[in-house]
Amino acid sequence: MSTPQQPFASYHLWSLVAPTAWQQRCHCQMRRGFIKARQHEPQVKALLAKATASQRIGLLAQKGVYEFHHHIHLLNQSDGVEKVAQLLKLSNSTDEVKQRVLQILKKYHDDPLLLGKRIILLTRGDEGFPKPILISHRHYCFRLYAVMDCVLIESDSTLHIIDFKTGKSDFDRRQALVYLLAARYLYPTHQAIASFYNLEVCKKSEIIRVTQSELDSIEFELAEIARKHQEDLHKYQENNSKFNKIFPANPGYHCRFCPFNSICEFSTLKALSPQQNEKKKL
Ligand code: SF4
Repeated sequence: MSTPQQPFASYHLWSLVAPTAWQQRCHCQMRRGFIKARQHEPQVKALLAKATASQRIGLLAQKGVYEFHHHIHLLNQSDGVEKVAQLLKLSNSTDEVKQRVLQILKKYHDDPLLLGKRIILLTRGDEGFPKPILISHRHYCFRLYAVMDCVLIESDSTLHIIDFKTGKSDFDRRQALVYLLAARYLYPTHQAIASFYNLEVCKKSEIIRVTQSELDSIEFELAEIARKHQEDLHKYQENNSKFNKIFPANPGYHCRFCPFNSICEFSTLKALSPQQNEKKKL
């Protein structure tokens, strides 16, 4: 008999369960259902595997920063950007991806945020799932996943977690809170802070720091998210015909940006009926 999986939490799950203030109207629980309950179905799997241009740019930008610091001399070479572009095999990308990533590399080459910093972790961005942190408390137990882009030690010994961004999306403070909770377990002897840095517009966020009691509340909230999500998964496994009751749809204009709009029966972008198609031709 297979043992039931332990509940888990991550920033990604948090964002799928609860919207940020500016995403209230377009938040759809059914997306969580596709991503976290039906991810192994061939159609869903294929849609999840399709990286959007924004995702490609984010990943290549992160790899670019990694390569600059892995071959640190390239930051001082006039052809450093071209060299990193070759390492990233940028020529295989679409024009949009190529142009935007080249701009990011040029900006980073001109003003390298991490140069001279004591970096203790810098990821390429394609390492896959990190090892989970087991959080065990008298009232709850869950696995926490936190994929950190960069961790450095500031001159006053503070641990600084930096998350790299691209594009126009706003920074979501909750992501930093998850990192700070993870740091409590991974680097227990350090005071930790977190921030975001948008590589495309070279914009730093404010520094985010929390007290121990705030971390306790965040941990409790994530334990609750993990428990509720696990409960939803069990309900779905018991009766998968209840998918749309367990993960209710919230269709709207935002369906056009949803990766599942081609297979979601609630999508506002439904395929046209043969009659509608005929009318369109007239
Ligand atoms: S297509 Fe629309 S209703 Fe369906 S999962 Fe996506 S956002 Fe929700």
